[in-house]
Amino acid sequence: MGMYDCVSVPDIDCPKCGKPLSDWQSKSGDCVLDEIHYSAVDNFYTSCDECHAWIEFTKRVDPDAPLSSYEMTVDAVDSVLERQEP
Ligand SMILES: [Zn+2]
Repeated sequence: MGMYDCVSVPDIDCPKCGKPLSDWQSKSGDCVLDEIHYSAVDNFYTSCDECHAWIEFTKRVDPDAPLSSYEMTVDAVDSVLERQEP
């Protein structure tokens, strides 16, 4: 269905280009387009508007884990790393 939830995440800058990240989404929750706190889901992700890097957080075992216990993975898409002219 392509449904997801919007995830509320503290301000994080892109590890690749330093731009603030936004539009976090998750398919771990009820997927009814709700705004949910990141602690409610096991996995959330976004892509950087600037460099199109894929940033994904996956929860480790502690159910009350803070954000620092999420593991961030970044998968940059090489072909779109060139910045577009404004
Ligand atoms: Zn970026």
